[in-house]
Amino acid sequence: MKDQLYIDGAYVACASGEMFDVIDPTDRSVFHRVPAGNTEDIDLAVKAARRAFDEGLWPRMSGAERAAVLRRMGDEIAARTDEIARIEVQDNGKPLPEAVWDIEDTAGVFHFYADLAERFDTEAEQDVVLGMEGFTSKAVKEPVGVAGAIIPWNFPLLMASWKVAPALAAGCTVVLKPSELTPVSALELGGIAERAGLPAGCLNIVTGFGLDAGAPLTEHPMVDKLAFTGSVPTGSRIMATAARDIKTLSLELGGKSPLVVFADTPIDEAVEWILFGIFWNQGEVCSATSRVLIEEDIYEPLMARLVEEAKKIKIGHGLEEGVLLGPLVSPLQHEKVLNWIETGKREARLVTGGGVPEGLEGGCYVEPTIFADMPEDATIWTEEIFGPVVCVKSFRTEEEAVRLANDTRFGLAAAVMSSDLERANRVARAFRAGIVWINCSQPTFTEAPWGGYKQSGIGRELGEWGFNNYLEVKQITTWDRHKPWGWYLKE
Ligand code: NAD
Repeated sequence: MKDQLYIDGAYVACASGEMFDVIDPTDRSVFHRVPAGNTEDIDLAVKAARRAFDEGLWPRMSGAERAAVLRRMGDEIAARTDEIARIEVQDNGKPLPEAVWDIEDTAGVFHFYADLAERFDTEAEQDVVLGMEGFTSKAVKEPVGVAGAIIPWNFPLLMASWKVAPALAAGCTVVLKPSELTPVSALELGGIAERAGLPAGCLNIVTGFGLDAGAPLTEHPMVDKLAFTGSVPTGSRIMATAARDIKTLSLELGGKSPLVVFADTPIDEAVEWILFGIFWNQGEVCSATSRVLIEEDIYEPLMARLVEEAKKIKIGHGLEEGVLLGPLVSPLQHEKVLNWIETGKREARLVTGGGVPEGLEGGCYVEPTIFADMPEDATIWTEEIFGPVVCVKSFRTEEEAVRLANDTRFGLAAAVMSSDLERANRVARAFRAGIVWINCSQPTFTEAPWGGYKQSGIGRELGEWGFNNYLEVKQITTWDRHKPWGWYLKE
């Protein structure tokens, strides 16, 4: 495991020499220490990225040449899936099969953006039809410049790839600031990039805390674009900072995503997707199905089955066979979620869970937790908890379901289940959310746009949308000197 920053093509100690502990949430032990990067390290990293962009080969290479490097990065990540997945289990707590899924997905993201980089050679320029004779015009896409990427802890390497891969594919250079809670896997990316042939300075990785390393990155005048994934309050602060020198910005923020279940849904299917929606990755998922709306007619039988199945979920160490729920990421997150559960007990009815599982008190574990009888103004119904806690409510009509689903300041994701696909599609279109699932919840695809309405963010990641995040569009217009003009100099 790496214990140095990666700046300008080399692993280096941080300026202050200070290190901080990385905790294994299964037993709260310290399993690694990484550098506490600060303003000085960020400045070195940004200047390296600036030089690599302004003077280096990377933005001037063909897309096919960049694609070859990205493909090799994806290949090495794929080849090291098990090793890196085990780092994620120790750092984040997630069960191994989910961590393996993350790393396979991460490799897939590099391969996907390699393909887009290659296509860029023929698709970067587009003719624009003008409404005036004598001129021709082209829209030319170019890399935006130096990108500052700040990411959260719930899918450590995968979140890094959502920014690093499209940014590099577009020809940008990057400074990545991983979360202080899960910094270990991201540091591996430096060596992976180097072995793949990425020129020095194109990818820089600075571990550290939000205020010490994240804030100076957002404030740095040589950064052209900021890409942030994290909480709404931090996103809002970053947006305010970016406004000072009008940096291009994309924000992927929190959610409180609903799943509406109509009575014509097979109960087993509903139970499967609710459980997956809220309990995979310990519910530490921005798009988690944290609010479930069930049509009155099936409310009782569905709840009974849901509770029965939730109680069967195997909780434990992520490396243990059959475990579906690991510990939360950190002691602080554990405490936060348990506090939310205490609030929930005052606001609604706790149906199951709500505590620390017996025998696992040494780790940051929380039982799968279900609340029902939800008043509309309950804070556990309106605020993001980011843990294995789901709030359930019944509804009578489609209109009521849509109103309740949309009654939130967030708009990241929403889902609807019904055997009537016409109705499901109608509801899908009525949701005010950027990601909508019909008859499922959570499957995420590298090819499809990802991002939120309302306070859940600005812009879209993944797919070609994620690529466009790192591109500027330049208009190049040419006057045909054989055509008449002469505004000042008349014939
Ligand atoms: P967070 O906002 O606390 O931290 C995210 C990152 O920002 C970390 O790297 C942190 O060090 C950094 N940071 C903190 N303060 C900063 C500052 N003042 N300036 C610059 N950087 C700063 O979020 P978190 O707790 O790591 O992640 C959980 C949140 O992320 C949840 O709200 C979740 O919904 C959201 N999330 C959203 C998506 C999405 O795609 N929309 C995906 C994953 C997580």
